[in-house]
Amino acid sequence: MGSPDPLDFYAVGALLSDDERLVRDTVARFVDREVTPIIAECFAAERFPVELVPRLAELGLFGATIRGYGCAGLGYTAYGLICEELERGDSSVRSCVSVQSSLVMGAIHQFGSEEQRSHWLPELARGAKLGCFALTESHGGSDPARMRTRARRHGGDWTLDGAKHWITNGALADVAVVWAMTDDGVNAFLVERGASGFESRVIKNKMSLRASSTAELAFTDVRVPESARLPEANGLKAALQCLDEARFGIAWGACGAARDCIDTALRYTESRELFGRPLNQTQLIQTRLADAVRKLAGAQLVAWRLAQLKERGAAMNAQVSLAKWSNVRAALDIARDCRDMLGAAGITLDHSPMRHMLNLETVITYEGTQSIHELIVGRALTGQSAF
Ligand SMILES: Cc1cc2nc3c(=O)[nH]c(=O)nc-3n(C[C@H](O)[C@H](O)[C@H](O)COP(=O)(O)OP(=O)(O)OC[C@H]3O[C@@H](n4cnc5c(N)ncnc54)[C@H](O)[C@@H]3O)c2cc1C
Repeated sequence: MGSPDPLDFYAVGALLSDDERLVRDTVARFVDREVTPIIAECFAAERFPVELVPRLAELGLFGATIRGYGCAGLGYTAYGLICEELERGDSSVRSCVSVQSSLVMGAIHQFGSEEQRSHWLPELARGAKLGCFALTESHGGSDPARMRTRARRHGGDWTLDGAKHWITNGALADVAVVWAMTDDGVNAFLVERGASGFESRVIKNKMSLRASSTAELAFTDVRVPESARLPEANGLKAALQCLDEARFGIAWGACGAARDCIDTALRYTESRELFGRPLNQTQLIQTRLADAVRKLAGAQLVAWRLAQLKERGAAMNAQVSLAKWSNVRAALDIARDCRDMLGAAGITLDHSPMRHMLNLETVITYEGTQSIHELIVGRALTGQSAF
């Protein structure tokens, strides 16, 4: 019977349709040819590879689950596979696609007017415009209801005042989906780059997600028309719905980072000789590799099942939360142990596990920290909210 594929131990790949396999293989080829060769250098230089944006668009990876408006109209399993392959390259590339697709295009598609949809979605799908999603503020990302950014009505217009922190693509974006408190609760506004009073500043010296551009945004008396407000984005619930879509992609993406780490450790321990034999012939290395594959296999099955539920519109928030937190935790633990199996070589950018490990520190923090997702699952288990 042979042995199972270490990177797909329970043959999840065999459950895919031909179309899904085509999507996976196309994105995998793009990552091997265009992401892997440049990404360590981008990480070292703290540079987002903006030159990949037109290629990501050409491949139909922006807003891939949206039907119409120049988008690919794929299912959730295909979207998951896109995230998995991109994050196998680097979390920064997957983050760019998640933000553009789930958080920006998703918000406009779900909560925008028809006019906003037809104006923005084709441009964002073509990569002609980049977007960002501005929810977090510096005084507490886990508690967005306390936001201080205010939008006030002036006749037919609105003015925005406040600041947002830790915004992916914030300084590159042509349009920001900005969440602000109004007299009637939280609303979302499309603020274009260049609007008077809107400024951005790149956050430097991150030790994680270095190939992604992260920014602070400031709004001082920024005037936007009523037509810039997303008419259906009423309340924080709308923002959380967008985040749920992105968290689904993260649950898949984490599997990609973990796969790349295990692949690297398998190859390294096969060629490394210590004490007169290859490292992979020692019991301790084999149990560690087996444990990494145990964690990956569980994460892949959870991701696949979650996609099945999402295809049917049956995925519950707590299920998305458990998958996000559990899969990223698994990937982080795998990355750390694979880094260790490479010894000193593992701390360099010549090998991927440490880069993935550092990236995953952000991935386990953004879109809800591990503790917040544990509390969401705890609430589902007990019926009691502890936060
Ligand atoms: C690189 C990067 C990119 C990001 N991109 C975006 C983006 O594009 N858009 C955006 O809006 N945001 C973005 N974020 C922000 C991210 O979502 C927040 O950092 C995250 O929500 C956590 O908020 P915080 O950093 O303020 O931590 P805090 O909320 O201050 O949390 C600090 C600690 O307290 C814990 N904690 C919080 N509440 C409780 C509780 N009730 N009980 C027990 N423990 C608790 C947390 O788990 C955490 O360990 C990004 C962050 C990073 C690092």
